[in-house]
Amino acid sequence: MTIELNGLHAVVTGGSGGIGRAVAKTLLDAGLLVTIMGRHEERLGAAARGLGARVTPQVCDVTDEAAVERAFAEAARRGPVLVLVNNAGSVESAPLARTSPAMWRAMFDANATSAFLCQRQVLPAMQGAAFGRIVNIASTAALKGYAYVAAYTAAKHALLGLTRASAIELAARGITVNAVCPGYVDTPMTARAIEAITTATGRSADEARAALVATNPQGRLVDPAEVASAVRWLVSLEAGSVTGQAIVVAGGEVM
Ligand code: NDP
Repeated sequence: MTIELNGLHAVVTGGSGGIGRAVAKTLLDAGLLVTIMGRHEERLGAAARGLGARVTPQVCDVTDEAAVERAFAEAARRGPVLVLVNNAGSVESAPLARTSPAMWRAMFDANATSAFLCQRQVLPAMQGAAFGRIVNIASTAALKGYAYVAAYTAAKHALLGLTRASAIELAARGITVNAVCPGYVDTPMTARAIEAITTATGRSADEARAALVATNPQGRLVDPAEVASAVRWLVSLEAGSVTGQAIVVAGGEVM
C-alpha cells in the first residue's frame, strides 16, 4: 500500500485551543483531514469553524475510557485514523507537601493515561495499514525536574516512557511514535500559569511572565506554530526513520 499524506485522517486531541489548534492548522495545510477533540462543545465547534471544512469537531474527554472508545469509533467513520497527535493535557501546581493523591492521579489521567487510551484505539488501523504516526506532546518536564509541579512532571516522564516503549514495539510495523517537548509556549495554559504565580507570590503579571521567559535562552515564549512545525515534520513521510525521540522545542533550554 502506497501512503500519501494528502487526504490522510488525523486526530488531534485538545485541538480547540493553544498548541492543538496550531497543530490542526498545520496538518490541514499539509492536506490531511483532521478531527479535533476536546471537552467543551462550543469551544470545539468555534475552533472547527475557524479552521475550515476539512476539520471535524468530536467532543471527548480523553481521560474517560468509554468516551474515548466512542469518540474514536465515531471518528473512524470518516476514515481510518493513521495520524494521532496526543496533545490534550493539563497542569496543576502545588508544593510537594500539598500535592494530594487526587492531584497526582488527575495529572496522570490527563497527561499520560489519556495518550495510552487514545493510542490503543488507533493501533489496529495503523497495523492494518502498516503505517502510522503518533506524536505525543510532552514537555521539557518529561526530561528534567521542575519545582512545584511534581505530579505533572512525573506524568510527562510517563508519557515519554510510553512513547519510547511504543516506538520500539511498533518499529518494524511502519508506525513511528515520537514526543515533542516544548518549553513555555504562548497559550492559555501559560496565561493560567502566570495568574497562578501572581496569586501564589504576589508578583505582578509582568514579573511572573518574565520568570517564565527567563527559562528560555532565546528570551521569549515559544510560539504554538513552532511546536506544530515539529509535529508536521514528525508526521511527514520523510521522517519515517525517526522514532522514539523527544524533540525539544524550547529555545535552547538545556535538558
Ligand atoms: P491549553 O490549556 O491552552 O489547551 C489545552 C487543550 O486541551 C484545550 O483545547 C482543551 O480543551 C483540551 N483538553 C484539556 N483537557 C482535556 C481532556 N481531558 N480531554 C480532551 N481535551 C482536553 O494547553 P496548551 O495548548 O498550552 O498545551 C497543550 C499540550 O502541550 C499539553 O499537553 C501541555 O501539557 C503541553 N505543554 C504545554 C506547554 C505550555 O507552555 N503551554 C509547555 C509544554 C508542554 P477543553 O478544555 O475544552 O477540553
